[in-house]
Amino acid sequence: MKNLGIYVHVPFCVKKCNYCDFNSYSDIWEYEDAYFDALIDEIVNKSDADKYCADTIYIGGGTPSAVRPENIIRVMSAIYERFSVAKNCEITIECNPATVDFEGFCRYRAAGINRVSMGLQSANGEELLRLGRIHTLGDFESSFNDARRAGFANISLDLMFGLPDQTVGKWQKTLSRAAEFGAEHISCYALTIEENTPFSKMKLNLPDDDAQREMYDFAVDFLGKQGYVRYEISNFARWGCKSRHNLKYWRLDEYAGFGAGAHSFLDGKRFANEPSVLKYISGAPPECTNESDEDLMSEFMFLGLRTSEGVAESDFSERFTRDVDSVFGSTLKKYENIGAIVRENGRIFIKPEFLYVSNSILCDFVRIK
Ligand code: SF4
Repeated sequence: MKNLGIYVHVPFCVKKCNYCDFNSYSDIWEYEDAYFDALIDEIVNKSDADKYCADTIYIGGGTPSAVRPENIIRVMSAIYERFSVAKNCEITIECNPATVDFEGFCRYRAAGINRVSMGLQSANGEELLRLGRIHTLGDFESSFNDARRAGFANISLDLMFGLPDQTVGKWQKTLSRAAEFGAEHISCYALTIEENTPFSKMKLNLPDDDAQREMYDFAVDFLGKQGYVRYEISNFARWGCKSRHNLKYWRLDEYAGFGAGAHSFLDGKRFANEPSVLKYISGAPPECTNESDEDLMSEFMFLGLRTSEGVAESDFSERFTRDVDSVFGSTLKKYENIGAIVRENGRIFIKPEFLYVSNSILCDFVRIK
């Protein structure tokens, strides 16, 4: 049996945040049960499920904690019914503060969920309001404590930097307050202004590039001192607590996505589900995007180099039956010459001090030379 990551998309939110362009909605609640019926149908009718053993499951969104726990439990039962699930399977649910109580967390635990990913974003009340978040720092604190009391020993929290009117000092306060919670994993994402979001229509006073760089460098240094190792550009973990599910994406491992707009990568092929919730409910089939070997080689490098472990040359040649230098030799040389890429013990990785500016490097691997 092959290992598999399972992603389940829950597109419901209490309110849209001002920066969010995810496939999530606050005005479709009347379809909650119908959506979960369709989701469960998709899971139990999954062809070829017998050849896989799920070793990570991720229930994301949207705000999965905002739907009735019964629906989350139904999804988990459908997964257990259709797939083999590894004993040590990492099973994550994304939660937002003030949308789930202690009893809800206990029900998630009883359904086998063993990891919570919670959005804090900022510890500053004004910034939370500006972002359009529905919670306060106090709400986060009580949800975090409820999750711990319910037995969650593996909690991740999300933060954002580069916010409107944010100073380096404000970010430092958010980070140090966030670290006090003692989460096992912390993600720090730079705010990006996406098209068609409320933020894209506002005049915002955003920190300049130098300030954002300073914020990022502070996070790497500060979290490092608190025992969090950066293992991907935006992700920091205590020992043994990396997100195994997200590592699958960066390693180009196989995963199956269920729900509106969810993507799968199976047998070297990508599939995308219908993004419209209503069309998904009425049974619109997924689309297969045929990717060439060249596309996959680029993705393998582009995704793997985001992580501190980088890519193994032997993995590349096993997967593509080609030597990495025969495909990316000139690009690798270019960045080795300026000291941005290192090759050591059969692995290729971006030097830690270049990770922040790695986007331009990564883009170079998208066009095969
Ligand atoms: S809670 Fe998350 S998914 Fe929902 S609108 Fe806010 S950022 Fe987007």
